[in-house]
Amino acid sequence: MAKKIATLAKGRKCKHFGCKHILSIYNAEAFCNTHSGDSPQKKRPQASKSR
Ligand SMILES: [Zn+2]
Repeated sequence: MAKKIATLAKGRKCKHFGCKHILSIYNAEAFCNTHSGDSPQKKRPQASKSR
Protein backbone atom coordinates (compact mmCIF):
# COMPACT_ATOMS: atom_id res chain seq x y z
CA MET A 1 0.00 0.00 0.00
CA ALA A 2 1.64 3.13 -1.18
CA LYS A 3 1.56 6.01 1.14
CA LYS A 4 -0.11 8.93 -0.41
CA ILE A 5 1.81 12.05 0.27
CA ALA A 6 0.18 15.20 -0.78
CA THR A 7 2.70 17.02 -2.81
CA LEU A 8 2.30 20.68 -2.47
CA ALA A 9 2.63 22.67 -5.58
CA LYS A 10 5.63 24.85 -5.81
CA GLY A 11 5.17 28.55 -6.00
CA ARG A 12 1.71 28.73 -4.57
CA LYS A 13 0.68 32.20 -3.65
CA CYS A 14 -1.07 33.32 -0.55
CA LYS A 15 -4.80 33.37 -1.07
CA HIS A 16 -5.07 36.62 0.72
CA PHE A 17 -6.32 39.23 -1.67
CA GLY A 18 -3.44 41.23 -2.98
CA CYS A 19 -0.81 39.22 -1.20
CA LYS A 20 1.91 37.96 -3.47
CA HIS A 21 3.71 36.02 -0.85
CA ILE A 22 4.93 32.69 -2.18
CA LEU A 23 4.09 29.84 0.11
CA SER A 24 6.59 27.22 1.03
CA ILE A 25 6.01 23.79 -0.40
CA TYR A 26 5.89 22.62 3.16
CA ASN A 27 3.20 25.07 4.04
CA ALA A 28 -0.09 23.32 3.55
CA GLU A 29 -1.97 26.43 4.40
CA ALA A 30 -3.59 28.52 1.76
CA PHE A 31 -2.22 31.64 3.31
CA CYS A 32 1.21 32.88 4.06
CA ASN A 33 2.58 33.21 7.53
CA THR A 34 1.21 36.66 7.84
CA HIS A 35 -2.30 35.81 6.82
CA SER A 36 -2.62 32.28 8.09
CA GLY A 37 -4.80 31.48 11.01
CA ASP A 38 -6.33 34.25 12.97
CA SER A 39 -7.76 37.40 11.62
CA PRO A 40 -5.90 40.65 11.86
CA GLN A 41 -8.37 41.70 14.47
CA LYS A 42 -6.88 39.15 16.81
CA LYS A 43 -3.62 41.00 16.83
CA ARG A 44 -3.50 42.82 20.07
CA PRO A 45 -1.52 46.01 20.17
CA GLN A 46 0.40 45.21 23.30
CA ALA A 47 -2.40 46.11 25.59
CA SER A 48 -1.06 45.33 28.98
CA LYS A 49 -3.80 45.75 31.46
CA SER A 50 -2.56 45.78 34.98
CA ARG A 51 -4.72 43.83 37.33
ZN1 LIG B 1 -0.40 36.58 2.66
